[in-house]
Amino acid sequence: MALLETRGLTAFYGDFQALFGVDVTVAVGETVAIIGANGAGKSTLLRSISGVLRNDPEACIFDGQPIGALPSSRIMALGVAMVPEGRRLFPSLSVEENLLIGAYGRAGQGYWNLDSIYELFPILRERRRSPGTALSGGQQQMVAIGRALMSNPRILLCDEISLGLAPIVIKDIYAAIPRIKEAGASIVVVEQDVGQALRVADRVYCMMEGRITLDGTPATLSRDAIHDAYFGAA
Ligand code: ATP
Repeated sequence: MALLETRGLTAFYGDFQALFGVDVTVAVGETVAIIGANGAGKSTLLRSISGVLRNDPEACIFDGQPIGALPSSRIMALGVAMVPEGRRLFPSLSVEENLLIGAYGRAGQGYWNLDSIYELFPILRERRRSPGTALSGGQQQMVAIGRALMSNPRILLCDEISLGLAPIVIKDIYAAIPRIKEAGASIVVVEQDVGQALRVADRVYCMMEGRITLDGTPATLSRDAIHDAYFGAA
């Protein structure tokens, strides 16, 4: 059963149309990757789902219910959490305070709490009293993921979690994804790194210029088809 679905989703920034009829589905327990070049519309898709960007009220359906007209706080309370591009931590607050902020509204409703997040990312336990500003980029990304998990989401939307990080750090961050999945959440990762997306996802959508150009399982998508869907056929 689809936990999340978009049907003909459009999105605009003023007069500029960024999405043109996007259909995606995410099943319960599924990890879906959205790949595509800069400006393809990947972040806009996540922002539309999470209610940061308003759109057609009927186009986003979560657990059978249209959510497009709901404020983002209400969408979050239903179990949709977002790890935004750029992490957006509260810089003067400690790691632990940043994590606790994420629990607002849905704490104690599932597997994720401070202890399980410190188990997922042990370095955060060591650094729990450090302010956000004192952390490396990778540690900040871990806090951003942990903060989203603290709400015990049914679906976790991750926007470019590897952006600007060293390969070794990216490996650590991505190692968390299967564990988050095991704990029961569906996951959407927006990713420019195609190899990374194919390794982690059950299913992949490719976007170009505000449209889905390809979808399938990693095993069925050829390199050529992905190349064409990502950059456009020559
Ligand atoms: P990136 O990897 O750069 O984040 P993306 O695939 O996530 O790329 P979006 O950020 O969703 O792409 O952008 C889709 C289109 O919408 C682009 O043409 C972009 O310039 C435009 N856009 C994004 N945010 C805004 C905004 N706040 N105002 C106006 N146009 C925007």
